[in-house]
Amino acid sequence: MKDYKTEGIIIRVRDYNEADRIVTILTSEYGKVQAIARGCRKPKSRKRGLIQLFTHAEFALYRGRSLDTIIQCEGKEAFAGIREDLDRMAYAAYMAELLDGFAVSGEGQEELFYLALVCLYLLTVEDPELVTRVFEVRIMRLMGYMPHLEDCVCCGSPLAGSQAAFSSRMGGGLCAKCSASDPEAVICTMGALNMLKQLSRWDLKRLRVLRLTAKMKQEIGEIMQPYISQRLEKRIRSADFIQSLASVQNNG
Ligand SMILES: [Zn+2]
Repeated sequence: MKDYKTEGIIIRVRDYNEADRIVTILTSEYGKVQAIARGCRKPKSRKRGLIQLFTHAEFALYRGRSLDTIIQCEGKEAFAGIREDLDRMAYAAYMAELLDGFAVSGEGQEELFYLALVCLYLLTVEDPELVTRVFEVRIMRLMGYMPHLEDCVCCGSPLAGSQAAFSSRMGGGLCAKCSASDPEAVICTMGALNMLKQLSRWDLKRLRVLRLTAKMKQEIGEIMQPYISQRLEKRIRSADFIQSLASVQNNG
C-alpha cells in the first residue's frame, strides 16, 4: 500500500526548492512522518494556507523511500488564535520543538498526538505559560521521564521544609542536605515540586481552575527546561526565543 491516509499535526516546516515545503507531521498511527508538499507555495495552490506550522488536518500521502508526498490535505483546525499572537506562537513553537525531539517515526504515538492536540487547543484560550508548564511535565511523563518527586532522589529521605532543590542529572528533587551533591541543581521551593506533581495528573479540562503565581510558573520552567534539554540531549532553541520575548516585555 503506497497510498495512505492519516490525521496529523504539522510540527515542523521548511521551504524547499522554488515552491515546495518539507514538513514533519505528528500522527497518531505512524508517529512522525516526513513529507513533501509540492507546489504548495505557488500563489494558486489549494494547499497554500494549509501547509503551515500547527495545522491539524487529514492527510492523504504517497509513501516514498525517504520522504512521503502529500497528495491531499483537508484542514481540520489552523489554530489562528496561536498564529495571531506572538507570545502564544513562541510557546507553541517550543511545544513543537519538543514534540519533534521526542516523537519517533514508524510507530503509533497516540498519547503524544492527543497531548499535542489538546495543548494546542488550550494554547488558544488559556494562559500560554501555564499550558506550556503542563505540557512539559506531561510529555516527560509520557516519555517515561517523570522526575522523581516523592522523596530525595539522592538519599531517599522525605522532602520536607519549604526549601528544596532539583537535579536534572539525577532526575528529581533533593533534600536540603543533598542539595550540594549536584552543583548544577536548581534551588527551588517545595511548593514548586508539589505543583509539578499536581500538574502531571491534573485534568486538562479543568486547567482554568488552577491559579499559579507568575513566580511559581517561572520556577517550574527553570526546573523543567534544563531537565528536558538533558533528556533531549540538545539545547532547546525556541526556549531562548521565549526568554528574549520576556526580557523585551519586561524592559518595555
Ligand atoms: Zn537527600
